[in-house]
Amino acid sequence: MHKIITSVILLFICSTLSFSQENSSLNPCISEFENDQIMKEVQENVKRLNLDQLGSTKRARPSFSWPLRAIDSWKDASYYCISANVDQNTTTGQIQDWNCGTNTYDGHHGTDISIWPFNFYKLDNDIVEVVAAAPGTIVAKHDGEFDKNCNATNPNANYVVIMHTDKSVAVYFHMKKNSITLKDVGATVVVGEKLGIVGSSGSSSGPHLHFEVKTDFSNSTSYIDPFYGTCNKLTDASWWINQKPYKETGVVRASVHTTDIVFPTCPGTEVINESHVYSNPFQGAGLSPGYAKFYMFLRDEVTNLNADLKILNPDKSVFTTWTYTSASDSKNKTMGYSKKLPTVDGKYTFVVTYNNTTSSYDFTVGDGNTPTTGIYESLNEHEFLVYPNPSRGNFTIELNDNDQQSIELTDDLGNTIGTYNLHEGKNVITEKLEAGIYFIQQKNTNFIQKLIIE
Ligand SMILES: [Zn+2]
Repeated sequence: MHKIITSVILLFICSTLSFSQENSSLNPCISEFENDQIMKEVQENVKRLNLDQLGSTKRARPSFSWPLRAIDSWKDASYYCISANVDQNTTTGQIQDWNCGTNTYDGHHGTDISIWPFNFYKLDNDIVEVVAAAPGTIVAKHDGEFDKNCNATNPNANYVVIMHTDKSVAVYFHMKKNSITLKDVGATVVVGEKLGIVGSSGSSSGPHLHFEVKTDFSNSTSYIDPFYGTCNKLTDASWWINQKPYKETGVVRASVHTTDIVFPTCPGTEVINESHVYSNPFQGAGLSPGYAKFYMFLRDEVTNLNADLKILNPDKSVFTTWTYTSASDSKNKTMGYSKKLPTVDGKYTFVVTYNNTTSSYDFTVGDGNTPTTGIYESLNEHEFLVYPNPSRGNFTIELNDNDQQSIELTDDLGNTIGTYNLHEGKNVITEKLEAGIYFIQQKNTNFIQKLIIE
C-alpha cells in the first residue's frame, strides 16, 4: 500500500480568475466604440483595395476549421476550453448560448477560447497559435499593444480581420504583442495560416482568442454565432466543418512533477516543475522523501464521473492505482496528488482515463541504465562516459580508449540529432536540446548511453 500524504485540490475556472475584472456587458472583449473603429478600418481598406468590386454573385459562406493550433512539440491531448459563447439573448440582463445554456456573458458577440492549463506559460513560449479558420484577405490588422492584461477594462488589442469571398469577415482578437502576421493588409491567407499567438491584449482578463464572425463587412453589427444549435437564432446551420460538441468532457493532460506546480496571480507565469526523470532515491522540494506530484487536468467534468489514475510498471503491470470522482460539473479541474515513486529503476507511465479519453506521461526512476525492458536492455554504461548527465546544455562524451570514434546522438524516437567525432577519445558538445531523453550510440556497436536534458 502506498499512502497518499497530501492531496492538493486546485480549481481554476476556464474563463478568468475571480480576482480580476472579467469581461461583461460593461467590459466586453470589444467595446462598441472599438467595434465601430475596427469596422471603419475594414470598410476603408476594402474600398481602397477594390475588394467590394468583386462581382455581385452571391458566394457560399465559409466553412471554418478550428482557429487555434498548439505547436507540434506540445504533446498534451488538448490546450483550450471555451469560456464564453455568443450571447443569443439580446435583452439586457439576460443570457443564452447556442445550446440553450449560459456559457456566455451579456452582450457577447464572439466565441472566447481560453488556453488552458498554463495560459501565461503558453503565452510566453508561443505554444498556441491563432490560425486562419478559412481562407480570405487581410482587411485590417494591428500590433504593438501590451499583451498581459488581467483586467477587462484595458483598450487596444492586437488583432487581424480576414474577409472571405462571400464578404463575411472573421475578427481574431487579443493576440500577443509583436506576434501578428507580417503580411500586409490586402494579402491573402490560406486556411490554417498562422495569424499570431494567443495573448491577453485589449479588454481581456487572461490569454484567450475572441473569434467574432460578421456576415457582412459593411454592417458592423452583423455578427453571427458559428455554432449551430437549438437556441442559435443568428444562422440556420453550423459554420464549422466539424462543429465541436458543446461539452468536451475528457482528460487534457496527465503529468509528473518534482514538486507542486506554482500558479501565480495574473499575469505571473506558471512554474510547471515537471520532469520525466527522477533520481533514486528522490527528494522533491517540500515533499516527503521518495514522493513526486502526479497531476491531471480535466475539461468539462461531469458530476459523479470517475477518473482512473494509474502508475504502470515498465512491463505495463499496475504499480498503483487510484480514483477521482467528480463532485460537481465544472469547466475544468486541476488535481495534484503526492504519490510515492517506485524504488526500482526503470521507465514507468502515469495514465489517466476520464470519459473514454486517456492521457499518459512516461517517467524514469533512477539513471535508467538498470536493465528492465525494451530499449534499456541494450544500455551498457561502462563503455564510455557522458557527463554531466542530466545536463542542461554542454555535455562531454569520453571514451575509455584513445581511438578516434564516431558517436551518434538520437532522440527517444530514434531520430538522429547529430554525429560527432571524438578526438583522443573525448569531445565537448554544445547542443541546444529540448528537455527530454536522448541516446548516444557508438557507431557500429551496441554501446548506448542515455543522456537526460533537463
Ligand atoms: Zn470575447
